[in-house]
Amino acid sequence: MGEFTTPGKLLGTEEEFICGECVYGDEGKLHALCTGEVSVDKQKVVSVKPSNAVPKMVGPGMVVYGRVEDIFEPIALVKLEPLEVQGARQTQGDYLSVLHVSNIRRDYVESLRGEVRVGDVIKAVVSEIRRGEVYLDIRGADLGVVKAYCSRCRNPLYLRDRVLVCKNCGNRENRKLCKEYSAIER
Ligand SMILES: [Zn+2]
Repeated sequence: MGEFTTPGKLLGTEEEFICGECVYGDEGKLHALCTGEVSVDKQKVVSVKPSNAVPKMVGPGMVVYGRVEDIFEPIALVKLEPLEVQGARQTQGDYLSVLHVSNIRRDYVESLRGEVRVGDVIKAVVSEIRRGEVYLDIRGADLGVVKAYCSRCRNPLYLRDRVLVCKNCGNRENRKLCKEYSAIER
């Protein structure tokens, strides 16, 4: 194939291919997990060779901030924000890390939607780096969404009586919040 892909792009179905590295299956459809070159071997295993190396400064146990770029159940793709390293801001480029639905809460979570949404800013810990992918975890009380936006009108959501409320349109939403949620209103 040799085709270039971006995260989330549909590569085919489970009837056509077997899920290989940096590819994930969701309801029979296979999507790319990262930016890179698509290849299919003789056994019909489809995989993506990442073109972006894992950012050098990122390692397991590190606390990072990032913006949710896309959601394909059961994962969200999160763009890491620049890291502060020795007083200098180091950009992570367009690297997308992975937040899996099993790393949202200590309890079972069925769906990512309602816990995080596209555009939200999250505080997460890097749980592991595996097969060229950075995996995030937001289960701790001090981890989760730190900034959320209304899914109807994109205005910031304020926390009122433990519910997120949009002052603009009155929409009420839920998230897996970080205890330091930034737009707190009493
Ligand atoms: Zn709104």
